[in-house]
Amino acid sequence: MTVIVVGAGLAGLAAARRLVESGQEVVVLEARERVGGRTEGGRLADGTPVELGGQWIGPTQDRMYALVEELGLELFRTHNDDGQLLVDLRGRRSRMSSHRGAMPRLGPFALADLAQGLARFNRLAAHTDLAQPWETPHARVLDGQTFETWIRRTLRTPTGRAYFRIVCEAVFSADASDLSLLHALYYSHSGTDLETLVSVDRGAQQDRIVGGSIRIAETMAARLGDRVRLGQVVRRVTQGADGVMIETRSGERFTGSHVIVTLPPTLAGRLEYDPPMPSWRDQLTQRLPAGSVFKVYAVYDAPFWREDGLNGQAVSDRGPVKVTFDNSPPSGSPGVLMGFIEAGDGREFARRTPQERQSAVLGCFARYFGPQARHPREFLERDWMAEEFTRGCYGAHLTPGVWTSYGPALREPVGRIHWAGAETAVHWNGYMEGAVVSGEAAADAVLADERQVP
Ligand SMILES: Cc1cc2nc3c(=O)[nH]c(=O)nc-3n(C[C@H](O)[C@H](O)[C@H](O)COP(=O)(O)OP(=O)(O)OC[C@H]3O[C@@H](n4cnc5c(N)ncnc54)[C@H](O)[C@@H]3O)c2cc1C
Repeated sequence: MTVIVVGAGLAGLAAARRLVESGQEVVVLEARERVGGRTEGGRLADGTPVELGGQWIGPTQDRMYALVEELGLELFRTHNDDGQLLVDLRGRRSRMSSHRGAMPRLGPFALADLAQGLARFNRLAAHTDLAQPWETPHARVLDGQTFETWIRRTLRTPTGRAYFRIVCEAVFSADASDLSLLHALYYSHSGTDLETLVSVDRGAQQDRIVGGSIRIAETMAARLGDRVRLGQVVRRVTQGADGVMIETRSGERFTGSHVIVTLPPTLAGRLEYDPPMPSWRDQLTQRLPAGSVFKVYAVYDAPFWREDGLNGQAVSDRGPVKVTFDNSPPSGSPGVLMGFIEAGDGREFARRTPQERQSAVLGCFARYFGPQARHPREFLERDWMAEEFTRGCYGAHLTPGVWTSYGPALREPVGRIHWAGAETAVHWNGYMEGAVVSGEAAADAVLADERQVP
């Protein structure tokens, strides 16, 4: 019988691909008129591809590197070179090497504070149980406080606290007061460690895909052909003893043996289920908010900041854009600065006009890279909170108490309904790597179920 996959993001496409390779019939139902989900391709006026959603991969994301090769795609390095990273903390600007392990030029107290904070965080994170975070030693204590509580208790200097808060916003697009400490620890261990998550060099931001990350989804979808149905907004999932029936917004019905739902958990919780979800699964999806983020681009004739010895990366405690990157194509032309408006800034700026946002973003770029940055030839933004079929990015985070009260419900199938998606991944949870591996794991679980049917 057919297996139905809901969502043609990376998890859904990877699941479908694995099922097809095993000889299984598959239908992928995708709400949007495009594939890729939280990866999305765009084009500048001159045709240069840009990535409006997820874009980087980095070492230890082994499945992504293998997939890129299997699909015949090519990689290039994020622009880093020998340029320096600009640090703008508590009103003081300094430059630092952007190589992994480098520390900002800070006073001795702040530096010592930061070093002990990082050591403590990494020690705690290394003890989290990735498969069952609720089994982590002292899980209830860690899950009973926010990341912000830990920052206030552990870091002694305003600079040390500011650093951790910026890292939290950059990694989760959420404020440190939004998420459980256990989740912050688990998530960073899931992606190796905090340093890996924030680094370009040997970190999560190291490599990009030629033509844009959307090429991954598009190439997988092309091979799946008409098994992928676009514009199919799934509304209702019914399961019985013999199989499942999926109904879409337009009233179409699809039947199959199993369904793999790959939606971000909040959206999965908004589908109608018959019979209704068990209370623990529904209550879980009530407690997994998505982060708040705009991705913004300013395009210039050339990457002028490189002439000034800067690599286009900035880190600041003053928003709305607190983190930037040089997102120019491999040729270096045009010069592209990319930034994120995250967490509280994202929420606040969602209510402003596009003109107000553009002016505030360019103000930040000018503060980091000089007055030239105020005059891009093109400006782009993508509000991921406003996207009907995503409703926030980069992914979901768990609020205090959720891992320890509802953890198992995140991955456990409910009868013939299996869950996949970046949020369900054990390794690289929240990333493209996690999405792909979760999709393949769900496909394997469905195939194992199918084999058990007499
Ligand atoms: C701005 C941004 C930057 C990011 N940066 C990175 C990065 O650099 N590196 C990295 O690894 N990750 C990054 N991420 C995260 C990464 O993009 C995601 O983890 C990954 O793409 C998630 O894939 P997924 O398949 O799990 O979910 P999704 O991509 O969300 O797929 C779910 C699919 O379901 C569809 N859908 C929703 N509702 C319905 C419905 N009712 N019926 C049918 N279909 C429906 C959606 O349209 C979507 O296609 C970033 C994300 C964003 C937004």
